[in-house]
Amino acid sequence: MRAVLKITAGVVLVLVLALVAAWLADRPGTIAVDWLGYRIETSVGVLIAIVLLLGAVLAALARLVLIASRGPRVLAARRRLKRRQAADRALVRGLVAVAAGDARDAKKQAIAAEGATDGSPLSLLLAAQAAQLNGDMAAAERAYNLMLENEETKFLGLRGLIVLARRKGDNDTALARAREAQALRPGAPWVASEIFGLQAALGEWRAAEETLNGALRHKLIEGARGKRHRAVVQLGQVDAALARGDEAEALSLAESAHALAPDLVPGTVRLARLLAGVGKRKKADRLLENAWVQQPHPDLAETYAAIVPDLSEEDRARRLETLAAINPSTRESRLLAAEQALTLRRWAEAREALMVLVTNHEATRRTYDLLAELERREKGDQRRAAEWQEKAMTGEAEARWFCHVCGHSPKAWSPHCPSCHSFDSLEWRMPGAIGEILPPPAAPADGTLPAAEVARIGG
Ligand SMILES: [Zn+2]
Repeated sequence: MRAVLKITAGVVLVLVLALVAAWLADRPGTIAVDWLGYRIETSVGVLIAIVLLLGAVLAALARLVLIASRGPRVLAARRRLKRRQAADRALVRGLVAVAAGDARDAKKQAIAAEGATDGSPLSLLLAAQAAQLNGDMAAAERAYNLMLENEETKFLGLRGLIVLARRKGDNDTALARAREAQALRPGAPWVASEIFGLQAALGEWRAAEETLNGALRHKLIEGARGKRHRAVVQLGQVDAALARGDEAEALSLAESAHALAPDLVPGTVRLARLLAGVGKRKKADRLLENAWVQQPHPDLAETYAAIVPDLSEEDRARRLETLAAINPSTRESRLLAAEQALTLRRWAEAREALMVLVTNHEATRRTYDLLAELERREKGDQRRAAEWQEKAMTGEAEARWFCHVCGHSPKAWSPHCPSCHSFDSLEWRMPGAIGEILPPPAAPADGTLPAAEVARIGG
């Protein structure tokens, strides 16, 4: 349609020009101009041609001037776009390098991003993460501190500083920063759990319990987990009370903790010892026996023997035999029974209990060690004993306490890991189970941020 209109307009223009030319040709004449002592004489047709030509030249000149004046702005915009693209590329590559743990590339991209953006909030975050990955804590701290100056990145800066302080073992600074973060975002579950964990690590159990109750009230922590946390906090208070020599306080706290988490073995053990300490032996026995039915654990057996003072070796063995008999078909009960049978020199019984474990493929190092001891003591068979001993060397190790955050394996349970101070991180399991191969699921120990957090502020 437009093409048709264009052609029509062209035809009309040519017709009009032809008419004008014909009209001028019919009316010849000259025009004379006197100007500055010059006299120009020409025909009307030539004059019109000159005027048209001049007009065209002026229009072309004006267009050139316009392009020349707009040029720098267009070029600058193009340069800005290129810089921005380079910055975006460096940021993305840098964050990927951080996620991949590639310290050198992360640093390279961080420098590129910072140069291209003049220190945008996201480039500061990348700089901090890259510095942390390179082990340059001072540079990471500088970057996080710069992030505090911007309202949008202040929270993330605080988060980075908290993690750095915690890694330095400076829990007081970490707690102060966590309180700042809480003032900024009172509803953030991470801050509440951080404050709680720091108070627990500092042994401020009462304050920790208040933080926990607050988190429960605001539903920042799920009910079942909150209950377990409260039980562990109260066990921390039990240990503190025992250290002060306040056994009455310790007992009431241990009772409360046991009511909150009846399956927590360290709680059961503490309560049983405290009950026995105030003459409630029968109650302590029942408590340990019930726990043994639920979940046989060596600490329960040890406590069961320890709460009766001045037992002879045989009496101790007979008492532990009754505990094993309550839940006889579990691995822990068979081992306990075999140990007591060895002490009481009832060889056939010991052999039977141990061989069931071997047949059931439930034998661990402790099983083979006991079999070796049996061969030596019953028949003096050193050769057989050596064979079992060899199996013990390669056999599966016994279950132990393991920190699921740092992998540390302390001798005894405590409310937080003695190595990394993580709260309630100790679990009873066999070594070499899956947790040791895979990294911990949340809150990377090196303080780098989970991808979701990066994506949130990157947008
Ligand atoms: Zn740990």
